[in-house]
Amino acid sequence: MSTDDSQTQVKQLSVPLDVRAACRAGEEWGGEVPVAALPRCRDMAPEAGRLAYRLRFFEGQGVHPLAAELSIEASLALDCARCRETVVQSVSSRSRLSFVFSEEQAEHVETDAEAVILGREGRIKLLELIEDELLMAVPLMPVHDRPCGVISSDRPYESGKIAEPVDEGEDNPFAALAALKKGSGGKD
Ligand SMILES: [Zn+2]
Repeated sequence: MSTDDSQTQVKQLSVPLDVRAACRAGEEWGGEVPVAALPRCRDMAPEAGRLAYRLRFFEGQGVHPLAAELSIEASLALDCARCRETVVQSVSSRSRLSFVFSEEQAEHVETDAEAVILGREGRIKLLELIEDELLMAVPLMPVHDRPCGVISSDRPYESGKIAEPVDEGEDNPFAALAALKKGSGGKD
């Protein structure tokens, strides 16, 4: 997708949408936007990171019939909870949304649905809806799925969670250091 296309999408998703009309018409939206286009997620955007979304509006049963199904998928650049280096994780989420018009109504939506409070005009910016969904999907304790690679020298394996390298080869800086100490006459 070209930059022009994604800019057009971001623009379209930023126009307040009439939710009632969208539900009545059963509108479906889908596409991709750069993660960096979401103001509150910009810090978590990997280089050229994109978010894919699908949104389907429909009229449900019950007291609050304005509803939608939203699913998102994106890659985020987060700080590893173990080594503090960047870890890129893919996140995805799928929610059923129930549109209401007040806090009080929000308390009474079905348990499997997420309440979204609309303004008096009944409109919402889809980009903000998508951004909210992504923020809720951010993992609390992101960690590298393999042993963390780069450990800075001032924090040598103190957490105990990270195995010391077992490689005793020439390339191992610890082996080289040990050899150096032996060579110096063992003053320690
Ligand atoms: Zn890590």
